[in-house]
Amino acid sequence: MGEANKASCFGSSVFNDAVMAERLPKTVYKSLKKTIQKGEMLDESIADVVANAMKDWAVEKGATHYCHWFQPMTGLTAEKHDSFITVGSNGESIMEFSGKKLIQGEPDASSFPSGGLRATFEARGYTAWDCTSPVFVKEDGENKTLYIPCAFCSYKGQALDKKTPLLRSMDALNTQALRVLKALGHTATTRVVATLGPEQEYFLIDRSFVERRLDIMLTGRTLFGAPSPRGQEMEDHYFGSLHERIGSFMAELNEELWKLGVTATTQHNEVAPAQYEVAPVFGTVNVASDHNQLAMDTLQKVALRHDFVCLLHEKPFAGVNGSGKHNNWSMSTDDGLNLLDPGSTPESNMIFMVVLAAIVRAVDVNSKLLRASVATTGNEHRLGANEAPPAIVSVFLGDQLNEIFETMAKGTLAGCSSGGGKLQLGVSSLPVLPKDTTDRNRTSPFAFTGNRFEFRMVGSSQSCAGPVFVINTIVADALREIADELEGAKDVKAATEKILLRIAKDHIRVVFNGDNYSEAWREEASRRGLPIVNSAVDAICCMKEKQFIDLFERNAVLRHDELEARMEILLENYLKTIKIEGKVTLDMAKRQILPAAMKFAGDIASGMACVKDAGGSCKAQQAKLTEVCTLTDALADAIGELEAALAKATATADIEAAAQVASKDIRTAMGKVRTAADSLEKIVDADIWPMPTYAEMLFMR
Ligand code: ADP
Ligand code: MG
Repeated sequence: MGEANKASCFGSSVFNDAVMAERLPKTVYKSLKKTIQKGEMLDESIADVVANAMKDWAVEKGATHYCHWFQPMTGLTAEKHDSFITVGSNGESIMEFSGKKLIQGEPDASSFPSGGLRATFEARGYTAWDCTSPVFVKEDGENKTLYIPCAFCSYKGQALDKKTPLLRSMDALNTQALRVLKALGHTATTRVVATLGPEQEYFLIDRSFVERRLDIMLTGRTLFGAPSPRGQEMEDHYFGSLHERIGSFMAELNEELWKLGVTATTQHNEVAPAQYEVAPVFGTVNVASDHNQLAMDTLQKVALRHDFVCLLHEKPFAGVNGSGKHNNWSMSTDDGLNLLDPGSTPESNMIFMVVLAAIVRAVDVNSKLLRASVATTGNEHRLGANEAPPAIVSVFLGDQLNEIFETMAKGTLAGCSSGGGKLQLGVSSLPVLPKDTTDRNRTSPFAFTGNRFEFRMVGSSQSCAGPVFVINTIVADALREIADELEGAKDVKAATEKILLRIAKDHIRVVFNGDNYSEAWREEASRRGLPIVNSAVDAICCMKEKQFIDLFERNAVLRHDELEARMEILLENYLKTIKIEGKVTLDMAKRQILPAAMKFAGDIASGMACVKDAGGSCKAQQAKLTEVCTLTDALADAIGELEAALAKATATADIEAAAQVASKDIRTAMGKVRTAADSLEKIVDADIWPMPTYAEMLFMR
């Protein structure tokens, strides 16, 4: 590849449309395209031909194996590689790949979390190619494998992964959006897809530091660390010029992602020192979500090649900004509309207003579900910490749309004037709806940014699939109600106006354009009756409310048992994560920090004896010794409290109760251990402090 055009590698490892057109017989290509466009499963009659072409292509690229690549409930991806090689009758090796193997895999997947859905006697799981997401060849070291993006189900067809509900929610959204479009007289559309552009934040820390930090190694974040004397107060990192090591890292990251067809396009320094962002060009939600998984994986692999460790954790360092993953979301039609683009005709304007209203209603009615979709241990440090949206879900619309909504909430459409025009849907006197409202409100959890919504509560390490299938489902449901009403209406225009006025009146409470970080908003939100769910465990437990069970069943996204299993897995994951953090805290406190503090106290004490013998004053030494000993006692007490809390969680059988113990008792005790340890760090001899400091990790490249 020529130096001149590094981007020419784009998609070179993907079995994309161009490759398919070139390598498949015309009829097979056409049939496959149709399957992909309709989002259906692959037709068995063409599977062998497609599989064979894929295998030839992959083998030419040096691949020896294939794998079904899926997204179990761990939030990570899973893969088991099988070789193409089979042995022929004369003992010769043959490279083979059948349609059957392409369509379906049968991993012995009993070790993935299933929330009780899959008893061990039926431990088999099934993976099936999501053929709307193209296969690709990925290189890991010397190994090259053909990756087949898959959904993962149990023998009985229960979803065991993040992708299955995502695909189902896309269907639900497509169906309901089409009904609404048709009812509004727009018949040109035959398919509606949700689109996603996730902005990914991350930290890069020199590998040598991480090797000396058990906490980062095992939990992805620092469990100890006094603040660096310099933090992010100079505001000099955001959009700052790239350090050369970082620039080289980003160049290689882009190239690796481009090969895989991931459109990495935006990159910059983020707010905190050592924090960065990468964002792709948006795409269909399932492919974009796969691509984000690839991006997270590639970030970590390329970082190591540059002697960095990439931290995807939501809060690797206390006291500086954490990392989020803004999920930019919209809907596109196959006739070229972005349903969140106000457009310039009365017709497109009406569609826009209806879709917008549906979303506002969806968010208000299901705000607890959105909150639950981002409830993780890592995100608990971010939400509400005055750097990320608070744990209150609200919608930002921007000034002009806000005014329109407020007027509608008062029961009138005709008076809606803004930008010098009047909003009369379906007639010619329309306002110039905001096409490029630059979003100046960075504090909103769910912000309209001119042609899409940006869900800002998602954590940096999370799979996009969870939050996105929730958004798809709640919006599908709101559109369903609207479609029911419009389809039965004699006068569609009158019915539309009625719906808009009603939604504005009922749901204006969720619209908030002010500062979401302010204390005043918390008070205002509780006056408005908006749910404020600070604890991740409480948020997860909302999933069992009847209205949400019904919602997922009505839209055929998750059955009752599948939703319950998911809730259990999330609680289990929360509990396990906090317990690991607790145990690592104990290990470091007992084996590294306490000994350092004791040694320092001993050094002072023995030094004091000599100084006193020589007739010197020991005032400073005595004061320091007292301080060190007081903090050491506090540390020892806190260690005892943490041990007791961990034991209590282990002794609690009920998963929900145990998660509450983790959320309250373990986290509180960990906080006490940390407070004592961080205070010690500030006074103990730097030469004997057993681990790299915040200053070193955040500022040394
Ligand atoms: P900002 O930081 O200003 O919010 P970025 O450029 O960092 O913007 O990221 C914006 C993201 O939104 C990009 O990934 C972009 O592709 C995505 N995006 C733009 N239009 C849409 C759309 N219609 N649907 C989904 N995502 C979109
Ligand atoms: Mg953004």
